[in-house]
Amino acid sequence: MTGSDRKQIPRVDLPADARLDTLAVREGLPPSQYGENSEALFLTSSFVHPDAATAAARFANEEEAFVYTRFTNPTTMMMERRLAALEGTESCIATSSGMSAILLLCMGLLKAGDHVVCSQSVFGSTIKLLGGELARFGIETSFVSQTDVAAWRAALRPTTRLLFAETPSNPLTEVCDIALLARVAHEAGALLAVDNCFCSPALQQPVKFGADLIIHSGTKYLDGQGRVIAGAVCGPARIVDDVLVPLMRSTGLTLSPFNAWVVLKGLETLGIRMVAQSDRALALAQWLEGHPAVRRVYHPGLPSHPQHALAMAQQNGRGGSVVSFIVRGEGAETARRNAFHAIDSTRICSITANLGDTKTTITHPASTSHGRLTEAQRLAAGITQGMIRVAVGLDDLEDLKADLARGLDTLTA
Ligand SMILES: *Cc1c(COP(=O)(O)O)cnc(C)c1O
Repeated sequence: MTGSDRKQIPRVDLPADARLDTLAVREGLPPSQYGENSEALFLTSSFVHPDAATAAARFANEEEAFVYTRFTNPTTMMMERRLAALEGTESCIATSSGMSAILLLCMGLLKAGDHVVCSQSVFGSTIKLLGGELARFGIETSFVSQTDVAAWRAALRPTTRLLFAETPSNPLTEVCDIALLARVAHEAGALLAVDNCFCSPALQQPVKFGADLIIHSGTKYLDGQGRVIAGAVCGPARIVDDVLVPLMRSTGLTLSPFNAWVVLKGLETLGIRMVAQSDRALALAQWLEGHPAVRRVYHPGLPSHPQHALAMAQQNGRGGSVVSFIVRGEGAETARRNAFHAIDSTRICSITANLGDTKTTITHPASTSHGRLTEAQRLAAGITQGMIRVAVGLDDLEDLKADLARGLDTLTA
């Protein structure tokens, strides 16, 4: 099935002006002949044709139909349509992980000799993929400051095809100006892709600010309950349907229909989860700012955040659910001991580097997600030994404060 006939598959009959909360629970495909109200899970690798001539027509793309789950499946398509509706893009393609979404996008848009400008604060594996793996195929990437637009502009070359940003960043929650970066990209004849993992479309729709393509790790907030690995690329039909869908057919970076169904159902509660988790995170950040054992707190919802105003304008007035903070402690060793004490004193938070779960997670970035960097690289990135990252879930706020107070109230140095 090519992209163009993907668009002809029937749509759910919804009013044209249906709003996001409605689309989040209803956009997809019309129900099957059985009239199910909850979306069906089509666990099938292939689809049967009524006769050989029809099969031939479908393989020749003369007739629209589902053919083979490596490139299209009804359950997966429901997830894609729902996510595209939430992001406000024409189309979406689901992938087996967030990383395979970035790989598919790069394979679709770039060739040897092309150049990418990317924030140096993006997800660690994204830096490895762009700066390492793709460099072997002749694609060069310049890494620049998350917040310094002049640095992005200065890195442009005649061969620059793509600007890649992720906002807010992990774990410092630095916010980049999507509208400005979109302008820089378009003036250079390049596209802007934004990894929208941290806010999800419930808080931030990058296309509203001019971004061309949206990357998702569905593993995080879209599923929202820590169950599956999934990813997606959202964007215009001329790229997603006409370039990425055919590329998916020959690369097989496919999301399993089961995982697509889990994400599809996760999208139904995305809006209320993001608001609840973000509000809890802000309240926790405010409480941490007042705690004597805490040196500094990072959350875009705090007026002390360097890009607070930009974040509020770009993220529907909310900071997201990730809070980072630095515990008291003179010198790297004491700071690390104090951070480990605070983490190990929790009885509710899950000690894991994952995020986007209803269960609150806690991690020490300097020894986990950023553990492979040298101490000098870590300090340049602003990640010190005293830093702790909390990805706030749906646990009770007072329980979370008590959980962190257990360690923060009992530091000895
Ligand atoms: C987790 C993550 C990814 C990678 O997603 P996977 O689903 O784990 O492959 C990419 N970007 C960001 C911002 C992430 O947090």
